Amino acid sequence: MQTQSQLANFIDGKWTNATAHGFQDVKNPATAQVMTQVPLSPAQEVDVAAQAAARAFKDWRRTPVGERIQYLYRLKSLLEANKDELAAIITNEAGKTFVESVAEIARAVENIEVACGAPVMMQGINNEDIARGIDEHMIRQPLGVVAAITPFNFPGMVPMWFLPYAVATGNCFILKPSERVPMTVSRIFQLVEQAGFPAGVLQIVHGGKEVVDAILDHPLIRAVSFVGSTPVARYIYQRGAAAGKRVQAQGGAKNPVVIMPDADMDTTTRIVADSAFGCAGQRCLAASVGITVGSARNVFLEQLADAAASRKVGYGLDKATEMGPVITQESKARIEKLIALGESEGAKVVLDGRNRKVSGYEDGNFVYPTLLDGVPAQSEIARTEIFGPVFSLMHAETVEEAIAMVNDRSYGNAASIFTTSGATARQFRYEVMSGNVGVNIGVPAPMAYFPFSGWRDSFFGDLHAQGFHGVEFYTETKVVIERWPREWSRKF
Ligand code: NAD
Repeated sequence: MQTQSQLANFIDGKWTNATAHGFQDVKNPATAQVMTQVPLSPAQEVDVAAQAAARAFKDWRRTPVGERIQYLYRLKSLLEANKDELAAIITNEAGKTFVESVAEIARAVENIEVACGAPVMMQGINNEDIARGIDEHMIRQPLGVVAAITPFNFPGMVPMWFLPYAVATGNCFILKPSERVPMTVSRIFQLVEQAGFPAGVLQIVHGGKEVVDAILDHPLIRAVSFVGSTPVARYIYQRGAAAGKRVQAQGGAKNPVVIMPDADMDTTTRIVADSAFGCAGQRCLAASVGITVGSARNVFLEQLADAAASRKVGYGLDKATEMGPVITQESKARIEKLIALGESEGAKVVLDGRNRKVSGYEDGNFVYPTLLDGVPAQSEIARTEIFGPVFSLMHAETVEEAIAMVNDRSYGNAASIFTTSGATARQFRYEVMSGNVGVNIGVPAPMAYFPFSGWRDSFFGDLHAQGFHGVEFYTETKVVIERWPREWSRKF
């Protein structure tokens, strides 16, 4: 996987040193230690991988689906057998706690399990006698060569939203992981190698924008899956679609949580604090805006401030740590600037996570839990994705007002409500313009057998990641209408 502490691409079944223009340091966000370097591959590496994938596709699509999933079963077992090592790599490159990293691997495995249902999930549909003696069938065929471009915050899980479904349905798959967290995937691909996938079926090309653009423009690549920030998602969708590709592009988020006065306040506070500050707020389903309704305001604010202040911040491999660093120094600076922006726009900084150091990890990118109260609904801070451990509080008098505030934003990844009223919960579920909805749930993450349903600026495309949507995305439907009159066969 590595030569002279530099990562290699995995192309055509071999680890190959990229003919890179340059290399980028991969740093541990808690210690600032340089762990390895990632190649910034040139476009030409994408072409080599795409050609290898196209060659491999000829046989892979003919490999029976029941046989294709045997490779995935082996990969699942290998991921499970190596989960602690993989979790430690995730913690070291992405910063989250070891417990969070283990949970991430479990989510990755869950997607492999669901994709192993491909023999059933990719079945077609048939009707006999659509006219007398004429039958009609719809079958699903793989697209060919497909690719995914993934973000930094779930280096082990997000690639598995795509990879297992793509190969189970008979495609050959190229992954461009985030250049900020390339190590987890590099280790996973050693396990891919061990699982025995034929050369060219699964490949990695490391790099940045040049690799992305080469994927988007390459004539052999039929479909592109993306997860990352909204501006890049929009760009991927437009450029990929202009090149005639199928594209699913998941974007950023700003997820609101409504807290009703009838909610069970102890449970609500615990769950919302976990959602807002888990993974240092770097989850696309993290609660980032709280809207308290009526008398919920004071008690929720008080309890949440306590829960946030007591969170133990540190290096994710230290057992006591409950929240790790953010990904880079630039990210920390951006988050601290946004806190200042919120303050200048009239929010009260109830808990300030800026300018804090963790003893022993003074060079780490730590931002402590931060709480902004009285955030004006029209302010920039109420609408901008912060992607850090910052929770903004707003207030409404009624549930109708709260729902209007939820819907008055461009993102639509997730929205949650905390209440003990079924009628209020139903109204919320029915009216919010968000694709993943939680009722007394802080992180409404769909299981692998449900689509990951971002809406509005959180998603560009129509078929989402995971489950049946994944199978549909990676297959083309073919309709066959046939007539076999008995009298014709009698002629021969
Ligand atoms: P990002 O958009 O910066 O990067 C994502 C990928 O795009 C990386 O592989 C990167 O190399 C590439 N990229 C970055 N800039 C590019 C450019 N100008 N042109 C072409 N390619 C480019 O995202 P990130 O910082 O790695 O991840 C965090 C973001 O991802 C947040 O906005 C978060 O909400 C979002 N996210 C969304 C979901 C979801 O399901 N909707 C899940 C996880 C993360």
